[in-house]
Formats: sequence, C-alpha cells, structure tokens
Amino acid sequence: MSVIAENLQRVQARLQVACQEAGRDLASVRLLAVSKTFDADAVRQAHAAGQMAFGENYIQEGVDKIQALQDLHLEWHCIGPIQSNKTRLVAAHFDWVHSVDRLKTAERLSTQRPTTLAPLQVCIQVNMDGGENKSGVLPDQALALAQAVAVLPNLQLRGIMSIPEPYDDAARTRAVHAQAHALWLHLKSQGLSLDTLSMGMTADLEAAVHAGSTLVRVGTAIFGRR
Ligand SMILES: *Cc1c(COP(=O)(O)O)cnc(C)c1O
Repeated sequence: MSVIAENLQRVQARLQVACQEAGRDLASVRLLAVSKTFDADAVRQAHAAGQMAFGENYIQEGVDKIQALQDLHLEWHCIGPIQSNKTRLVAAHFDWVHSVDRLKTAERLSTQRPTTLAPLQVCIQVNMDGGENKSGVLPDQALALAQAVAVLPNLQLRGIMSIPEPYDDAARTRAVHAQAHALWLHLKSQGLSLDTLSMGMTADLEAAVHAGSTLVRVGTAIFGRR
C-alpha cells in the first residue's frame, strides 16, 4: 500500500473515532484531501485509495492538476484566496469554492460560470476570530453576504468555511469552532438552506467534528509535510 493510502486510512480512522465520540454518523462528515503543493501523481495515489474530493489553494496550480487529471472525474474545491483576475479560471474549472468573502467575487463567479456546467457550489469564508492577516467576512456581515450570494443564478450556496488561528490553547480552538457552528445555525434559521460547515484541518479535525463540522479539509496528514 502507498504511504498516501496508509495516511488516508489513518485519517479515516481518526474521523471514525471522532464521530463515535461525538455521537455522529461517519457519513455526516466529508473528507476533502488538500493537495496543494503536491503533484498530480500524489492525487492519483489518493484517488487509487478511494478519495474523490480534492482541495487546492493556489488557483493556477489547481487548474494545472485538474487538467492533468481529467480522466479521473474528481471533485475539485478551491479553498484559497481569489483575486479578481482569477475568478474566470475558478468558474471554469472548479466544482466548489469555499473562500468567497466579497459579493464582487461571487458576482464575477456567477457571471463567468459556464452554463454547460452545474452551478458552482459555494461556501462563504468567515473570519470568526478576527485574525488580522486572514481572509473572510466578519461574522456580523455573514448573513447579508450569504443572502446576496444565495440569489445569484449560477452559484449554489452550501455553507460557510472557518479557519481558526493555530492556537496552542485547545479550549480557544473549541470556542472558535463553536462560534462558527452557532453562526451556521443562525444563517439556517434565517431561511438559508445550508448543508456545509467547512471546518477542521490536520491539527483540529477532532475538535471540528465535535463542534458539528460537515467537511474537514486535510492536507498534511494525507500527503505529508509541505
Ligand atoms: C492548507 C489548508 C488546509 C490543510 O491544512 P493541513 O493542516 O495541512 O491539514 C485546509 N484548509 C485550508 C484553507 C488550507 O489552506
């Protein structure tokens, strides 16, 4: 078995334990394999081990891999910052975007989404803890942005993404996860139909599952250190 296949099994086992401890169904949490900085061959190995959904941060790098791996019919998620001059590439090549934090970006993605493709699946990135160098809309602006994105024609709003700062203090991480979950529930209570809370990475996936994450984005534990 390849190292990547073994790592994937380990991550699945971690998810299984976390779900058990949280009293959740394993099927309620999706695993997104974050392949940024790793080459197309690494993605092929993960696919051979059964992984179908992959996340990329750097848009041109992601598009190169998407094109090199077209034969596999994978699901591709853009999880990195999107500059205006990159929206066309995202709209043309990715299935999902987790990092929408401005209406302008969403409008461009909707306009540029080829109508031959399914709607682009969108999460709004929320900067829950106010990290200074971080993208994301502030929590009190999330509802307005979500409502505006929800009505754009070639997008389908699915939820929110949160990336807590890497705290040493586990209680702090848990508190930020809990806030993100509460915001997600609040948006749903306002009539938005959301099914995705994108939260949890290699270091905090258990805590994220406990807090109600429906999609964890895991890079290092699958592909190794970058
Ligand atoms: C790199 C990255 C990940 C994966 O992080 P790991 O700690 O390697 O699991 C997840 N989400 C985003 C937005 C990232 O940029």
